[in-house]
Amino acid sequence: MHAQDAPDRWGWDAGGVTSHPARLIRRAAAAAAVGVPVGLVVRATWGLPAAIGAGRRGPLPEVTGSPQFSDGTFRNRLPGPVIPAVSARSGLLRQTHRERDRGRPIGPVPLVCPEFPARAGELAATWLGHSTVLLEVDGRRVLVDPVWGDRVSPSPLFGPRRLHAPPGPIDDLPDVDAVLVSHDHYDHLDMPTVQALLHRTRAPFVVPLGIGQHLRAWGVPAERVVELDWDQSVVVAGLTLTCTEARHFSGRWFGRDDTLWCSWAVHGPRHRVFFGGDTGYTPAFAGIGARLGPFDLTLLPIGAYDPAWREVHMDPEEAVRAHGDLGGDVLVPVHWATFNLAFHPWAEPVRRLLVEAARTGARVAVPRPGERVDVLDPPEVQDWWTDVGSAEDRPVPPRPAVSGWGARAVPGARGARRRAAPRPGRSDRRS
Ligand code: ZN
Ligand code: ZN
Repeated sequence: MHAQDAPDRWGWDAGGVTSHPARLIRRAAAAAAVGVPVGLVVRATWGLPAAIGAGRRGPLPEVTGSPQFSDGTFRNRLPGPVIPAVSARSGLLRQTHRERDRGRPIGPVPLVCPEFPARAGELAATWLGHSTVLLEVDGRRVLVDPVWGDRVSPSPLFGPRRLHAPPGPIDDLPDVDAVLVSHDHYDHLDMPTVQALLHRTRAPFVVPLGIGQHLRAWGVPAERVVELDWDQSVVVAGLTLTCTEARHFSGRWFGRDDTLWCSWAVHGPRHRVFFGGDTGYTPAFAGIGARLGPFDLTLLPIGAYDPAWREVHMDPEEAVRAHGDLGGDVLVPVHWATFNLAFHPWAEPVRRLLVEAARTGARVAVPRPGERVDVLDPPEVQDWWTDVGSAEDRPVPPRPAVSGWGARAVPGARGARRRAAPRPGRSDRRS
């Protein structure tokens, strides 16, 4: 078995490692037993304890008072979610290599070298891949769910790997006023990225309850960590950052749901932004929209959905619905394109998003990784994904015709055209 094939049969959900830790240990032992070089095993497990974060040492004082925390874990307000156990055949382990290939692009993902203005703008979002976004809100900068790592895994050798490089080095980031984290899954909270940010910015890390224990274990001073429960706020550099409800779960390896998950509302003096983190669709969006909206910009997850875990990951149509519930004006999709975490074709999230946006009149901007969107003057949607999409993002060419004289290819069959993604124009509707 090739070491890099292993994660495809693991129970990765869209960010959360749901495989059992014993599995890795067994694999490492088995690899050593069949003669895999010890160096490889060491490399695969190097740094594991640190990247996993703080171990569970019982509920922390700041956690136990939370209404979201009971019987030792955080809980969603809605019933569920029911994440299939890793051993369940119909659950996260049902994938085969063939299913997994659907989520990989065929061509290189086009990247844009990020260009950050010397002074933060009024309202802009630079999508840096997956859920990592540099926000500019009323002249301030907020970095959300920063992940520059190659794999969303505690190991350098195992786990889902990037489908494209980071569009720019982390050292090229301008100074930021705050770093927001939605939850502790690896595709949203990356230890090396946190440690790099620690030394190149003095910004506070504003996180949901419990994540502070990871950050402090990685060397972040306690005074730079702000931990909030749902509906709590902190003011940083004139921006009000409000921790809001999400429908999801948490866990980096050991333990489950011992840190909180959330979405974020960012209020400046003039503009409002909502960042969804990871979440299933929830009626809570309407309440957030009523209390804290309307939002000039929503950043909502559209990828890594599956019927098996729809309680914890929205699909594209639900993202558009959430955008409406929140009173969103411009929607920028996130949580797609960068990591292969589910079973849908690579470009399906954005194709479905645009169909639903056209149907409902929602305004959408779909940047390339690294591209900055001026939200006050968003660009027209340009299809940059169809030429990149996976094999199942395009029709299968017809099979060669067979005649009595032997097989021959049908002229033009190889050139079967790809299905064009819809290109809705901007709508004037402000919802
Ligand atoms: Zn997650
Ligand atoms: Zn995620």
